[in-house]
Amino acid sequence: MIRAKKSLGQNFLIDENILEKITNVTDIYNKTILEIGPGTGNLTSYILKKNPKKMFVIEKDNELASNLENKFNNQITIINEDVLKLDETKLFKQEVTVFGNLPYNISTEILSKWIINLKKNFWFDCLVLMFQKEVADRIIAEFNTSNYGRLSIICNWKLNIKKICDIKPSAFFPKPKIDSSLLIFYPKKNFVKIKDPKNLEKVTRIFFNQRRKMLKKPFNQLFNGDKRVIDKLKIDLTMRPQNINLDTYYKLACEYENLRS
Ligand code: SAM
Repeated sequence: MIRAKKSLGQNFLIDENILEKITNVTDIYNKTILEIGPGTGNLTSYILKKNPKKMFVIEKDNELASNLENKFNNQITIINEDVLKLDETKLFKQEVTVFGNLPYNISTEILSKWIINLKKNFWFDCLVLMFQKEVADRIIAEFNTSNYGRLSIICNWKLNIKKICDIKPSAFFPKPKIDSSLLIFYPKKNFVKIKDPKNLEKVTRIFFNQRRKMLKKPFNQLFNGDKRVIDKLKIDLTMRPQNINLDTYYKLACEYENLRS
């Protein structure tokens, strides 16, 4: 009997309808699949039913990793590592489809790492990921809403994102206290070219440091009051950070980059 470890965010999916639904959101047949945090292998089993060409899983928990070895034998390749310490761009030479009922305590860290580390080519063709609902709401938030912020801006830079559904706590064991949401992410063909993504992280951090205050102070901090940038991007400095749309943030990151080069 497996005892779920809270420190590793272990809430295992047990609702068969949801498991089926997750594996129907994108093609699996004959594709290379990566699952993050397979746990007891419930979602893994459903994915395997759809006959992928090859399946990899990344599981940090040693006990669960060895159970998966017994359960699935050589049907899957188990990487018994911390996903945060791996470089997927080196592991996968061809595009993979990624599934994950992510450990909630590190879900945004995983996603930010993937986005910030994206080099020229995407190593995935789509991500099907579960988050706590409150985090998913921030990822897909539109500008001019209270959920809009750094996470929305960073995630939407290179990815198109769609919500599939919300999932109730009763779909898991042990039951989490919060609702979850399933999101699907596709690489964008066109996006604003920011040479160093760390500049986007910095610009958004400084702008959202005080999200209720006007833009004047963070703008001056980054651009020394350079009026040309305000005019070029048509920014009204009496607005709040949440009133600036995605595209303007990406352009601001480019302007910041130009200023420093
Ligand atoms: N996919 C399974 C399911 O839906 O039943 C389990 C999901 S559970 C929410 C999260 C899983 O991620 C657990 O199996 C946990 O051990 C694993 N995990 C936690 N932190 C991890 C990390 N840093 N790297 C890889 N796996 C991790």
